[in-house]
Amino acid sequence: MRAPVPDADAALIAAQFEAAPGIDRLRALNEGFAAADPDTVHAVLEEAVRYAAEHLAGFGDAADRIGARLVDGRVVTAPGHRQAWEAFVAGGWPTLDLPVDEGGQGLPASLAFAVQEICDRHCAAFGMTPVPTRSAARLLAAHGSPALRAEWMPRLASGEWTATIVISEVEAGSDVMRMRSLAVTDGDHWLLSGEKQWISFGDHDLSPRIAHCVLARTPGEAGLSLFLVPSLRTDGSRNAVVVRRMEEKMGLHASPTCALGFEGAEAMLIGVEGRGLHQMFTMITNMRLATGAQGCGIAAGAADVALAYAAERKQGGRGERPLSIDRHVDVQRMLLDMVAQVEVLRGLVLATANQADLAAHESDAEAQADAAALAGWLLPIVKTAGGEIASAVASEAVQVLGGAGYTREWPAEQAMRDARVLTIFEGTTGIQALDLVHRRLRKGDGRGLRRFLVLARADGGAALAPVLDLLEDAARRLTAEADVAAVEGGAIAMLRLAQLAATGWIAARLAALAGEDPARRRLRTAGQHWLAGLPARARQAHSEALDGGGIGERFAALAG
Ligand SMILES: Cc1cc2nc3c(=O)[nH]c(=O)nc-3n(C[C@H](O)[C@H](O)[C@H](O)COP(=O)(O)OP(=O)(O)OC[C@H]3O[C@@H](n4cnc5c(N)ncnc54)[C@H](O)[C@@H]3O)c2cc1C
Repeated sequence: MRAPVPDADAALIAAQFEAAPGIDRLRALNEGFAAADPDTVHAVLEEAVRYAAEHLAGFGDAADRIGARLVDGRVVTAPGHRQAWEAFVAGGWPTLDLPVDEGGQGLPASLAFAVQEICDRHCAAFGMTPVPTRSAARLLAAHGSPALRAEWMPRLASGEWTATIVISEVEAGSDVMRMRSLAVTDGDHWLLSGEKQWISFGDHDLSPRIAHCVLARTPGEAGLSLFLVPSLRTDGSRNAVVVRRMEEKMGLHASPTCALGFEGAEAMLIGVEGRGLHQMFTMITNMRLATGAQGCGIAAGAADVALAYAAERKQGGRGERPLSIDRHVDVQRMLLDMVAQVEVLRGLVLATANQADLAAHESDAEAQADAAALAGWLLPIVKTAGGEIASAVASEAVQVLGGAGYTREWPAEQAMRDARVLTIFEGTTGIQALDLVHRRLRKGDGRGLRRFLVLARADGGAALAPVLDLLEDAARRLTAEADVAAVEGGAIAMLRLAQLAATGWIAARLAALAGEDPARRRLRTAGQHWLAGLPARARQAHSEALDGGGIGERFAALAG
């Protein structure tokens, strides 16, 4: 039997929730957000911890060892997945942050992401079950016709039916515009044909009906269009969607990744023809934020495994009795680094979710535009931080556990495998970096960065100022740079610099927390530790961001 991942600490996450920028403003905006008062938030988080302990703590191992299987062309989920999902739906968990008039509870998105993280620490593959469904519900709420919303919204919101996001094709990975799938009109609906790959939960036995949210071409339109393709037609017959294959993967074994064939499947247009990619960003935004939360869940679980192990494992020391390894400074260094990364990532996920909510609910147009711009600036940062911190912390957890960490008796190696894809799906790190330098800086108006700098300078004080100065300088110089190859050569370092500044903003707020309860003490320590190492890292990222020229020439020399 594999060693368990410790349960999440609801008080700790509740303390972060209260410290996150934007939560006070959200509560002042409407009754739904005000209902998420500190006591309610704490109670919801405690309930989520109970749910996860009861239904997911024991499931993570079977989810990894057995995983989902393809049987006679249909996906059968791992033993226990269905029960856990039914309890999740019965508990009302999918509805937390969806609008009240669409069947949701109208609570802040940050609360839903905090709950997701609590689940992900035990089973990140399970945590992927509701994400496309919640994101599709938001998509339909924003762009669906009244008829589509009436049929799908209440059941997607409740989790009775589920959804997928269907973009990738063999020749259209990062380069979405190369897709070939085509939809043509047929009376009052469309028929969609094409081959899609890597579709998470493309088929499963958890819900009777799946809404595939599919991007495809239409005749005569340059832009892509967005369709809802139901797995079952309204009369209950199967639509022409075939599972071609289920991928065997490094991790996330309970999350079935399917190649799907659409063979003239009946489809309904979502929103406006030719505007599909733009509309899909409602869903993509939510899913990128969910990747940040997923990374936080994996990292938090791995860090807690390492902390518990290090307190028990005895090695070294001069006397007769060996010391627990958490008495050695090098192990303390690893543990501190891990905890600090978890806490700044958690804060960043909550902060970004709050800005996304403010962007949707602020009544003043300027405030709304500020929040939207800041959410847009933070999105590639938090998505990438989720993947990188999950991988780094999981790897460090293996290091703290030594040989035990490398075995399947402990969950740290699974965390490493599960984490690896987070910098790949929902847009690779390379694509996030290009998004930051081109879309947010060079082609955009820089409003997101400006808003970030205002808030971060106000919270960060003298400790963060040098890092923010470096960010501002690199942004100005990359925006003015005429050599696009040099900009793109430095884009990853620029994203790293932006990530250091954003996590520094969170760290500064945590470092300033008062109070001696264990949660606040941990948060304060994590903030102080993260801030201490920041200027040196930022200087390196700044110099690499501005030194991206010449890569093409060096590569050409390498290639001969
Ligand atoms: C487990 C899993 C689940 C997934 N779930 C879904 C899903 O539910 N729905 C869905 O539609 N897709 C899904 N995907 C697909 C995923 O979104 C893609 O894998 C991802 O977008 C990258 O595309 P690609 O794999 O084709 O890589 P490529 O696009 O081939 O990229 C390979 C490398 O080249 C780099 N690169 C590519 N283009 C550029 C460029 N222009 N400039 C600089 N660098 C570039 C990338 O950064 C990367 O490092 C999933 C993938 C996995 C592994």
